[in-house]
Amino acid sequence: MPKPTIAVDLYSDTVTRPTPEMRRFMCEAEVGDEQKLEDPTVNLLVEMVAELLGKEAAVFLPSGTMCNEISLRVHCRPGDEMLAHATAHPLNFEAGGPAALAGVNARALEGPRGQFDAATVKAAIRPENRYMPRSRLLWVEQTTNLGGGSVWSLERLRAVTAVARDHGLRTHLDGARLMNAVVASGVPARDFAKPFDSAWIDFTKGLGAPVGAALAGSREFIAEAWRLKQQMGGAMRQAGIIAAGGIYALRHHVKRLAEDHAHARRLAEGLAALPGIVIDPASVETNLVFFDVTGALDAPTAVERLAAQGILMGAFGPRTIRAITHLDVSGAQVEQALAAARAVFTASS
Ligand SMILES: *Cc1c(COP(=O)(O)O)cnc(C)c1O
Repeated sequence: MPKPTIAVDLYSDTVTRPTPEMRRFMCEAEVGDEQKLEDPTVNLLVEMVAELLGKEAAVFLPSGTMCNEISLRVHCRPGDEMLAHATAHPLNFEAGGPAALAGVNARALEGPRGQFDAATVKAAIRPENRYMPRSRLLWVEQTTNLGGGSVWSLERLRAVTAVARDHGLRTHLDGARLMNAVVASGVPARDFAKPFDSAWIDFTKGLGAPVGAALAGSREFIAEAWRLKQQMGGAMRQAGIIAAGGIYALRHHVKRLAEDHAHARRLAEGLAALPGIVIDPASVETNLVFFDVTGALDAPTAVERLAAQGILMGAFGPRTIRAITHLDVSGAQVEQALAAARAVFTASS
């Protein structure tokens, strides 16, 4: 059977292609040797990110995963414990990196929509006791990924990090989709990042660049991160070519995230009206749409049937489907996805 053409790719916001304007900008980037700090485009990008996140310095890295893993290694010693939501990226999607690379024990916290509260943090922090791992790091994802793209309020971020700091823990913000939170809430990125020792943003999610992420923190933190970047093979050469995509994205692709959020909301509202689908459209705060299927079709089968119509989504568990809107999905394509979903779910109800 020939593979159906993909009409609408809602699998992830990582599937975006650089726009012609972004490609042109990348093409014309001034470059140098990045690992000698001689690439002017990378240097500009890290200055922009340090400024954006209100930190002393930043480092350009090949991926968000490397931002997370390097941060873990800077903050923790082997045997230390990190506190993160059970759905957090490093606990689920980094191939065991916290254990393999940092020797870190992960303590999974619970709470609705990928978030937890200050009391949960307090209860999870270990007492001084030589039998127990040492609680070292508090970890927050903004927006939450498996938490449905929910946005942590500034109040809650301040509350959970205050408890951590009072107990001598460091704090890390996984900001793979931080700019979605910024656009959805109107809170500046630096305010979200302020209570954290380290924070990063991804250029390859909603921002639509092809490669890279940037990690920010104190000068001392970034110097250590640079050592590990070198050690892990993340130091690059004429990386300005790819960093330019990040610069272009920060200049031109932030405000437009509001369109992705509107599209996600529209998708959620349309899905909510279909038989065999459970979703509260009000829970869609950014560009991630998670919904449950309760009818004859389980999630993998529904995803397969949608794919046969050229609509790509992801099955996240037997009854849960994830769809993500992004730069390469238009309003018309959202309607097209809804029409396909209507056909699939009405036929099976
Ligand atoms: C995608 C993602 C990452 C990893 O980023 P990559 O650039 O894909 O390595 C980390 N954390 C969260 C929350 C993500 O969604």
